[in-house]
Amino acid sequence: MSLYTMTIDGGDTPAASTFGVVNPATGEVFAQAPQCTREQLDDAMESATHAFVCWGASEDTVRRAALRNIADALTTAQDQLAELVTKEQGKPRGAAAFEVSETARWFRYFATLPLQSETVQDDAMGHAIVVRRPLGVIAAITPWNFPLLLLGMKLAPALLAGNTIVLKPSPYTPLSTLVAGRLIAGLLPPGVLNVVSGSDELGAWMTSHPAVRKISFTGSVATGKAVAGAASPDLKRFTLELGGNDAAIVLDDADPARVAAGLFWGAFTNNGQICAGIKRVYVPDRLHDAVVAALAERARRVRVGNGMDDGVQIGPINNRPQFERVSGLVADALAEGASAAAGGRPVDRPGYFFEPTILHGTREGMRIVDEEQFGPALPIMRYSDLDEAITRANATPYGLSGSVWSSDAERASRVAAQLDCGSAYVNTHLVVQPHLPFGGWKWSGIGIENGPWGLDAFCSLQVRYSPRAQV
Ligand code: NAD
Repeated sequence: MSLYTMTIDGGDTPAASTFGVVNPATGEVFAQAPQCTREQLDDAMESATHAFVCWGASEDTVRRAALRNIADALTTAQDQLAELVTKEQGKPRGAAAFEVSETARWFRYFATLPLQSETVQDDAMGHAIVVRRPLGVIAAITPWNFPLLLLGMKLAPALLAGNTIVLKPSPYTPLSTLVAGRLIAGLLPPGVLNVVSGSDELGAWMTSHPAVRKISFTGSVATGKAVAGAASPDLKRFTLELGGNDAAIVLDDADPARVAAGLFWGAFTNNGQICAGIKRVYVPDRLHDAVVAALAERARRVRVGNGMDDGVQIGPINNRPQFERVSGLVADALAEGASAAAGGRPVDRPGYFFEPTILHGTREGMRIVDEEQFGPALPIMRYSDLDEAITRANATPYGLSGSVWSSDAERASRVAAQLDCGSAYVNTHLVVQPHLPFGGWKWSGIGIENGPWGLDAFCSLQVRYSPRAQV
């Protein structure tokens, strides 16, 4: 069985104990990952603190060159990394390869992004510029749905700004991060990036560690609240990218056959395990049956299987607790009177496979509508009045993204403008790009990733002012 190592202070670092990593397509442990001790975390933090002295003061040209080298190295290692992502996460090989290439694209984008100094005053009184300075040591914590892409969204801007990092992946998907992290750290001075792995408790140690100046966290709302609490005694900065319960609203002029593909993949990409995926659909009475039928037809036709096999479009759910949660939410909806137009049950095979499920007869008050299901089950709901549908779409503590589907893009755009969320789409969903600000409203998060806004989140602004009159 393969043994993986952490990267601390530039060196391969094993741990005294390990934990098993399960392949969700088989339900069996296939590798062991290191369980970082508290002393090893202290070593990683000390190394990052030490490395910050030089890295934080380095020329940004040096840091940009490093980001380009990282992008090239990820591209070269694409096949090896994609295989690991599929084995530990479950997604199909093609989707895993796409995740690696997207991660490289994030590093390339940030390599070109200006780290601006702005002159904000230049007059008879004095001269003032605003410069961006790095924060220090960043604790970067990622979930299991996109282990590499989410790492890229944190590391690329954090490194460009001049910060040093201690990175921890989810215990369900540590391997691709350990391997990619080793690769990336090897292209940086020792200590600029340290990669540790372990259980959830390791995340809590990181967020309360005195060396950390900022926590960059992606994960669930419940953990996000714990992270915010852990940050407060030391007033650490934090960015929280949390869960979502995105609504899609279909307008009465939409063509069900034309919107079905976009709606389906807006919900079922990554087997529904995507923060900003469609989690609820509102359909006018007149189109309800046609939309349900078109989505159900796709759900029955999509090829579910082991992500290593050719032609598979949807893999297993990543882990047993999540599989049980999705199974429970669907069973609960069916017991409360919903019907499954497609799917509705686990697939009878080893691993954590669940049938792509289209539910109708669902309503607010059912858990699958009110909570984030984060899996392959989509509730469809009727509406008779558009204003009422908008109100229902917004009646959630989440606010990540939302979408409106119509044959009239301008009309849809006016409806999208009424959605309370960080990204509002027309006739599409799931558009996450390096140059677009990504962040949640309400419980879906605090702060922004990507674009110049995401870079600013890893900087402190400093005003440099000098009066005209000489002393
Ligand atoms: P999770 O919150 O359980 O875990 C996320 C990470 O936090 C893991 O690395 C975990 O080990 C760590 N962790 C757990 N307890 C911790 C603690 N007390 N302190 C610090 N770290 C701790 O989330 P998950 O189940 O891995 O991921 C799924 C969730 O992530 C979903 O809710 C999904 O919507 C969300 N997500 C959000 C985004 C976004 O950008 N908004 C992107 C992807 C996933």
